Amino acid sequence: MREADDVTAGEALARAVAALAETGRRPVCVTDPDAWTSERRADLEQAAPRCQGCPLLDPCGDAGEAEDFGVWGGRIRDRRFRTEDRAAS
Ligand code: SF4
Repeated sequence: MREADDVTAGEALARAVAALAETGRRPVCVTDPDAWTSERRADLEQAAPRCQGCPLLDPCGDAGEAEDFGVWGGRIRDRRFRTEDRAAS
């Protein structure tokens, strides 16, 4: 049985997004979501560095560990090549 504070990475990200929204801020990816989910590798490579400075970087990266595609926490998740790159460093 899960404890009250034993949240999944996805739940932690959702909480962080909600907390950020309460400050009136939004992560940059919501302004151009297609770039973060594009099927073109070049688009993902351009999007990933733009995560730098995002206050959600850590929880987003943690949530991305379970994802197969897209940019999460500055990392490209791409199941087509079974790679994970730190493109934003
Ligand atoms: S770290 Fe996550 S929430 Fe922040 S801009 Fe990147 S993809 Fe969006």
